Amino acid sequence: MTRLVLLGPPGAGKGTQAARVAERLGVPAISTGDIFRANVAEGTDLGKLAQRYMDSGEYVPDEVTNEMVADRLTQPDAVGGFLLDGYPRTEAQVRELDDMLAGAGTALTRVVELTADPEEVVARLLNRAQEQGRADDTEDVIRRRLEVYAEQTAPLVSLYSERGLLVRVDGMGDVVEVTQRLLAALDAD
Ligand code: AMP
Repeated sequence: MTRLVLLGPPGAGKGTQAARVAERLGVPAISTGDIFRANVAEGTDLGKLAQRYMDSGEYVPDEVTNEMVADRLTQPDAVGGFLLDGYPRTEAQVRELDDMLAGAGTALTRVVELTADPEEVVARLLNRAQEQGRADDTEDVIRRRLEVYAEQTAPLVSLYSERGLLVRVDGMGDVVEVTQRLLAALDAD
């Protein structure tokens, strides 16, 4: 059974790699950012709430995010495993995820930190801004997202490391090579 979390700063390539690795492992890639963006696009109440935070590079409040993930993880395709991309991002979310999984009699199998060079990350995000026009890819918001990651999410690396769950993979370089590194680190190559 594969129940993975993918951690890493904005611009490390998590979304791209999550989709590729999940496909190889036969589990759904669950991206909280994608779910929020879909809600924004559809104009749901959740989307309206989330957008205010996303546009300024802040995290959507834990209660809202936790409820959304709890709902997603009970859907049939996630019962046999999953790859979480972009969740948990705070210590409160870690605890909540622990409870959700314990409630289902399961637990995480591995946490992967995708590492990236900070300069490269900003360059990648600015490039994505031009290509995809994401509202939160302006330079100011990118800097804020990196700060929020450092403050709130980077501490999760040592938390999961202390639990013996963490593997660290270099996210720099060619997309195909990074996927190979990830699969090798997960003993799935
Ligand atoms: P991402 O696509 O993962 O970079 O997420 C885009 C934005 O969605 C983030 O900057 C946050 O505003 C919001 N978001 C995504 N995941 C979470 C989360 N786990 N907790 C809080 N906010 C989140």
